[in-house]
Amino acid sequence: METIFQEFSGYNGTLVKPYYWLYPSHNCLKCPYHIRTGEESRVTYGEFYEAFGFPYGPTMPENKQLIFYEIKAFNGAAIQKGQVTNCTLFNLHAESMLFEKHGYIDSFLYQHIPVGYLTLYTNFTPCNEHGHCCISKIYDFIMRYPEMRLDIYFSQMYHVAEEFTFSFWNKEALKSLAGHWPRVTLNPLSNGVWRTVLYAFVKDIPESTLYQPILPARASADSYNAHMIHFITGIKPYFVDDPIVSQPQESKRLPEYQREKIYPTFFPQPQQGFFQSYPMFMSHLPITQGPKEVTSKPIQIVRHLKMPVDIGKVVNSSDMAPNARKMDEVIVTEQLVKEKGKEVKRDRRRKITDSGKNSSTKS
Ligand SMILES: [Zn+2]
Ligand SMILES: [Zn+2]
Repeated sequence: METIFQEFSGYNGTLVKPYYWLYPSHNCLKCPYHIRTGEESRVTYGEFYEAFGFPYGPTMPENKQLIFYEIKAFNGAAIQKGQVTNCTLFNLHAESMLFEKHGYIDSFLYQHIPVGYLTLYTNFTPCNEHGHCCISKIYDFIMRYPEMRLDIYFSQMYHVAEEFTFSFWNKEALKSLAGHWPRVTLNPLSNGVWRTVLYAFVKDIPESTLYQPILPARASADSYNAHMIHFITGIKPYFVDDPIVSQPQESKRLPEYQREKIYPTFFPQPQQGFFQSYPMFMSHLPITQGPKEVTSKPIQIVRHLKMPVDIGKVVNSSDMAPNARKMDEVIVTEQLVKEKGKEVKRDRRRKITDSGKNSSTKS
């Protein structure tokens, strides 16, 4: 398989250049390692708050995307966890890099087939805007792994309000993606799921945060997200652990049938994983009968989203980043850990003189 990424060893995981031609830059704090795995994926509490708006409520950081992911086997065993961020230098969305064909995750899953579950915890819903086409990439991705389940938890809606140029296309794409229910679910982050994310991906969490109830502003936003995703996709979120404190103004304006109570259902995924060592929160959770049967019927699956742009176009690095150029740099802190499927050790000081020659890390 042709690959376009490079993977390096970090202290507690790996650092991945999603595209071999990325390089360190002052214009992108995360460049070039936009994918980080294992414990390298943890962020500070401050960074988590800035991106996800937890615990105080939505922050809507326009230019900051942060996605955490988990990959699990069918028996629930954890295979990998990681972090993906957007690139402000080349204006690349996180989903676009994560779901790239022949990209890092594609290659990883290909080597671990069959994979049971891919779960995303993201600060924004995915878009399908011109130049990114994130949902189209997700769509193609789940077609390549038809046995895998995809659950997306989000904290904020991205460009679905009428004032955004692509809001119609974003909403249509979300609707189409949600049409893969029950293989694909779109859910608001809520109550206990927040703490699940905190434990797995955040460091230096204040103790008070771990034990206090979800603050009203955050709970209200989560409830609003549940209503909005239902309103947009026609499918009620499958996994909601919502302590519903008050209905936001926006949702009060929704028609009566869209204001149905969201039944709290917690820890929907039956598999065991990273978070089984934190049972304390279970005692705080509402007693439920497990995931409710969703009354909404999945919409018809549409193979290709109708877009005003050429969404089927295969992403080409030269198209995406006209400024991409051959590098002449020295990487002194990492070492290449895999090449052509074999473990190799290399001198830590490794000079890259031709980006093309160093583009492949796996066969
Ligand atoms: Zn970048
Ligand atoms: Zn996007």
